[in-house]
Amino acid sequence: MSITVSALRETAAGERRVAITPEVAKKLRGKGLRVLLERDAGKAAGFPDASYADAEFADLAQVLAQADLLACVLPPDDAALADLRENTVVLGQLRPHGAVARVAALSQKKLTAFALELLPRTTRAQAMDVLSSQAAVAGYRAMLIAAESAPKFFPMLTTAAGTIRPSRVLVIGAGVAGLQAIATARRLGAQIEGYDVRPETREQVESLGAKFLELGVSAAGSGGYARELTAEERAAQQQALAEHLKAFDAVVTTAAVPGRAAPKILTTAMVEGMKPGALIVDLAAESGGNCELTHPGERVEHGDVTILGPLNLAAGAPLHASEMYARNIYNFAELLIRDGALQPDFNDELVAKSCVTRQGEILFSA
Ligand code: NAD
Repeated sequence: MSITVSALRETAAGERRVAITPEVAKKLRGKGLRVLLERDAGKAAGFPDASYADAEFADLAQVLAQADLLACVLPPDDAALADLRENTVVLGQLRPHGAVARVAALSQKKLTAFALELLPRTTRAQAMDVLSSQAAVAGYRAMLIAAESAPKFFPMLTTAAGTIRPSRVLVIGAGVAGLQAIATARRLGAQIEGYDVRPETREQVESLGAKFLELGVSAAGSGGYARELTAEERAAQQQALAEHLKAFDAVVTTAAVPGRAAPKILTTAMVEGMKPGALIVDLAAESGGNCELTHPGERVEHGDVTILGPLNLAAGAPLHASEMYARNIYNFAELLIRDGALQPDFNDELVAKSCVTRQGEILFSA
């Protein structure tokens, strides 16, 4: 019997992505696998059932009862997990950090679960790296939101009514999302600067045609990530940044340190020193925000400055976000399937390090 690979219609509020697209369904079928999706699984992403030439569709209960490998964008809810068969393999963004109850539920059901957030950020993992693919979408959208919400144009305009100066935009945190935000601001014609505490980002920022903002604080950590700043470094960063901030019309913040709350970089006093009409889009809102004034999911007006804390930005461009996500899923699934059977190779570090539970055994401490 061939393996049944499934995806559900995502149920989290505002979630419109789908874990298996028509393109990936075709590739899975080409490998001899059966693709069984919940009805309307891809509809919100722009993939109606009729666009899947290589998938079968059924209602939720039937899919849960037949899935051998369940791909998801966000963790399935408790009821869905409870209806999966023992030993089903679950794969997706399982948000395992701090999710003690969810990990316990995966374990009780004797599931084998892979959280792609835990994949090591190695070269070989790039094709499966959902954090990167979805961060690229989020960075792009954050800059579009900044451009749309600002009271100014981004590009320089020369018109019969006079010349309009381009907006000055700063991106704080030049990881995957930040670099995509910088590239998007460039395309929109803004005058753009980027800042990060990892020294190697200078070249990446400059390669996009942006200026690197030098604040004299360097904090490279392990695994290519930034480390948390010491109190002295943080104070030095804030002091230098406060002066520069006064010049910018829009600031997009994306700074994160893995496994920790987002660093608070913009203080209330710094915001109060910004230009009237200035705007902050805080992409780190999901993990607490880079600005003291951010309220996740909300728009805050503080004096003459607006602070936006949008959530789950990747879901707002669901078609391309799903296409990239589903390719990540397919590339990882290839590590799990050998000779037509589900046989994850736990000697492979990508498999071992992303595994949360293995046939119920808890391998990741939430
Ligand atoms: P992230 O989302 O964890 O953080 C975003 C950025 O915030 C990072 O660039 C970080 O340096 C920066 N930051 C943290 N604290 C800061 C502070 N106090 N002030 C200013 N900036 C701060 O990062 P990410 O986008 O996931 O990428 C992190 C690293 O992983 C990068 O080196 C990236 O190139 C690398 N990476 C590797 C792969 C791979 O090879 N598979 C894939 C993606 C990313």
